[in-house]
Amino acid sequence: MSKAISGDTCGGGTSQGGSSDVRAFMEQVVAKNPGQLEFHQAVWEVVESVMPVVQATPTYRKEKILQRMVEPERVVMFRVPWVDDQGEVQVNRGIRVEMNSAIGPYKGGLRFHPTVNLGVLKFLAFEQVFKNSLTTLSMGGGKGGSDFEPKGKSDGEVMRCCQAFMAELFRHIGPDTDVPAGDMGVGRREIGYLFGQYKKLANRFSGVLTGKGMAFGGSLIRPEATGYGAVYFAQEMLATRGESVEGKIAAVSGSGNVAQYTTEKLLELGAKVVSLSDSGGTIVDNDGIDEEKLAWVMELKNIRRGRIQEYAQQFKSAKFHPNERPWDVKCDLAFPSATQNEIDARDARTLLENGCMCVSEGANMPTVPDGVDLFLGAKILYGPGKAANAGGVAVSGLEMAQNRGFLHWPREEVDRRLREIMHSIHENCVKYGRNGSFVNYVQGANIAGFVKVADAMLAQGIV
Ligand code: NDP
Repeated sequence: MSKAISGDTCGGGTSQGGSSDVRAFMEQVVAKNPGQLEFHQAVWEVVESVMPVVQATPTYRKEKILQRMVEPERVVMFRVPWVDDQGEVQVNRGIRVEMNSAIGPYKGGLRFHPTVNLGVLKFLAFEQVFKNSLTTLSMGGGKGGSDFEPKGKSDGEVMRCCQAFMAELFRHIGPDTDVPAGDMGVGRREIGYLFGQYKKLANRFSGVLTGKGMAFGGSLIRPEATGYGAVYFAQEMLATRGESVEGKIAAVSGSGNVAQYTTEKLLELGAKVVSLSDSGGTIVDNDGIDEEKLAWVMELKNIRRGRIQEYAQQFKSAKFHPNERPWDVKCDLAFPSATQNEIDARDARTLLENGCMCVSEGANMPTVPDGVDLFLGAKILYGPGKAANAGGVAVSGLEMAQNRGFLHWPREEVDRRLREIMHSIHENCVKYGRNGSFVNYVQGANIAGFVKVADAMLAQGIV
């Protein structure tokens, strides 16, 4: 087993090679954004892919498209004061990064986690710009959140924090301006509280948030979308080699929203899922996590809000590995679905040695740069988060479309559209990422996402 990480460690975004242009550009980014390691890492990865395109396109260079893209259009930072169940005043920090609105209103989730800071949210917002562009829908990129820790808090405490957060955020968002959604620590419960407070303050019932409950404008398949989408993307990648998900052994990390629905779809398609995790450690179940066990996990995580180690007490076929991640498990497919930088170079090496043929990232930037290089060097099927986990924001886009038309599409309709979107994201990655018989999905996703946003920025002038 490999050791758990804090989730805020960084693979060292600027220490890699790259051309002298990339290095010079990154030096400016690092100097201007000191200490924002995850942001440096996310920018470096994109810039390395797109620099040849920028160099070959004089208007991109002249109009400083890249320099403008790494500067958020706006950042709002605010105090989030609330009162806990003991009557003590608690003070958290709220942030919304409005990164780029060239192709649509800012769109991206809210994260509640103690590791949230400006650099983490800028990395997520930056990734979101390219991801949203890839979905083919009209959505700009943003991200927000708070260093509030929902774990161990009562419903009343979570509600009061959500209300305090929205008491400031509501002035900056709107269905045509900025449409937040959930992310780590922000699920259906939190979106409900946030929406209620927005509606009260704005005196308006509108599609200002996605991931809403079904009774007040939510879309079917939104909770499932990121996990299902990551599996659909894996299916697309596997098909290029005449392979399928059926009969494969899959390692999944995390046990939250993305991990749960990744597991659900993998089971439906005939894979055997052997791991789940949380920040306390990993469970490995060599008999496989079947539908019944998954239902138990969903109840544990979504209702009782318990810890994954309880799984090993409930199911004797499983073993719990405290403070460890699942990447030592022998698997054909890996679905990192917890947090950033959760696959380090050693993990990547172990996955490859154990015969892993496909990594589809449900989480955002879960693999450190050296790990990415190892996957690409070994020419396995490696789907980076901004392509593989775009299903979540894609169905958020479909939720916005339904809200506009006061419509409710049936489950099959939303799922069909999700599949189509994941298929077209895959096609775009292949179009821009093919090197001979190998598809570099990192290059493909970065360039495909970049070109659309860059061209929209060019058309809109220097703003
Ligand atoms: P949840 O909060 O529902 O679940 C997160 C899971 O990751 C939990 O099991 C959590 O454990 C675990 N985790 C968090 N930090 C660590 C850590 N340092 N080490 C080990 N496990 C950890 O979040 P989501 O499932 O929504 O999000 C997971 C990932 O997917 C994130 O990277 C997110 O940005 C990305 N994503 C999510 C989308 C969505 O639609 N929800 C869309 C696109 C990407 P614990 O409970 O112990 O904290």
